Amino acid sequence: MPEIKLVDIAMIYPFQKVSGIFNRNQQELILQQQKSMPYTSNEGVIALQHFTATFTDGDFVAVLGPSGSGKSTLLRVIAGLERPVAGDIYFDDRDYKFVPAAERDCAMVFQNFSLYPNQTVYKNIAFPLEVKHTPREQTEPEVRKIAELLNLDTKLDRLPQDLSGGEKQRVALARALIKKPSVLLLDEPFSNLDPVMRARLRVQLKKIHEVFQTTFIYVTHDQYDALYLADRIIVLKDGIMQMDDSTANVYNYPANRFTAEFVGSPSMNFFDEVPLSKTGTISILGQTVQLDKAQMKKLGRNHTVDVGIRGYDISIASEGYPAKIEYCEPVESELLIHVRADDKSLIVVEKADESGNIRYFRDQEVFLKANSDRLHIFDQNGERI
Ligand code: ADP
Ligand code: MG
Repeated sequence: MPEIKLVDIAMIYPFQKVSGIFNRNQQELILQQQKSMPYTSNEGVIALQHFTATFTDGDFVAVLGPSGSGKSTLLRVIAGLERPVAGDIYFDDRDYKFVPAAERDCAMVFQNFSLYPNQTVYKNIAFPLEVKHTPREQTEPEVRKIAELLNLDTKLDRLPQDLSGGEKQRVALARALIKKPSVLLLDEPFSNLDPVMRARLRVQLKKIHEVFQTTFIYVTHDQYDALYLADRIIVLKDGIMQMDDSTANVYNYPANRFTAEFVGSPSMNFFDEVPLSKTGTISILGQTVQLDKAQMKKLGRNHTVDVGIRGYDISIASEGYPAKIEYCEPVESELLIHVRADDKSLIVVEKADESGNIRYFRDQEVFLKANSDRLHIFDQNGERI
């Protein structure tokens, strides 16, 4: 199974053409929207730029970014559905730039299931083998095997319309996996499902990956999906890669402010433009932290930093920095405590009481203690220092 290598890929979608008399207003509107995108060239919208990454065999990589950040474009480039305007793509060191989609040994699963509505579950799953004229005796055991793995063995005679959303998506997964692709590309596959079903399918998908051991590239705007499923996360924003690292590093050492704010729930607390003292210290929630030589060097002449700290790294203590409780929000087994310190709203996370009691009340005066080892410090360009 191949290693997929993308080198300095750029993808540009041509601007909407405005022509004729029909739908002219709509065409103009689309064009205006495209021109207001953060990155454009003379020819069109730059959906991906300078994208370089390697996907090794058996990886489970999440591509995480907000809507419009170029995630689907990336999958389409890998699948061969889109030809990049620049850059190279290799499968095991073989130049794949001109290899058509049908020869790429990729399978794709989409958000909208895209099943054949008039075909049974069995037929839907068997379809990729049938187009290859696989004999029936071979097809049937394969379909049954994969249906069992995905708990679809009792649904094989049904039509898609008689399935729940979660079942439909499992059929789509089965149909993709029966080809034994060397890479499975998943484009927000669970975003049309309710949260309970999502959680269940997440667990199942992780198991399926363990069984198949092929490369999974999973595109999502949901940081929870990415943190739960992937061994590695690529963060995208406006078509530019922000970070490519292990899931733990993306969470614990976000490379820039965008990643820091986008990954993790609740979102990281931020102190903007914190001044640096002459001796290179900053003060956060009453604690003084000394920046080290390397950090000072990266800052150069700049004398302010942005400082982030997760709610998990602040606690409510018997002494410390004074704050007032605003309100509390129980979320599953955690309590999100919204506090105000110096006119600044912060979120502190504690384990919830098992009894469901909320131990704080509005306007209660408390003290905060920040874990100063867990500060995330960024320069004014948003880069971690
Ligand atoms: P994501 O999947 O992260 O939401 P996409 O890859 O779909 O993002 O889109 C990236 C950018 O490219 C967006 O600005 C989008 O508007 C633009 N785009 C995507 N597909 C087309 C297309 N067929 N024509 C023109 N622009 C497109
Ligand atoms: Mg998309």
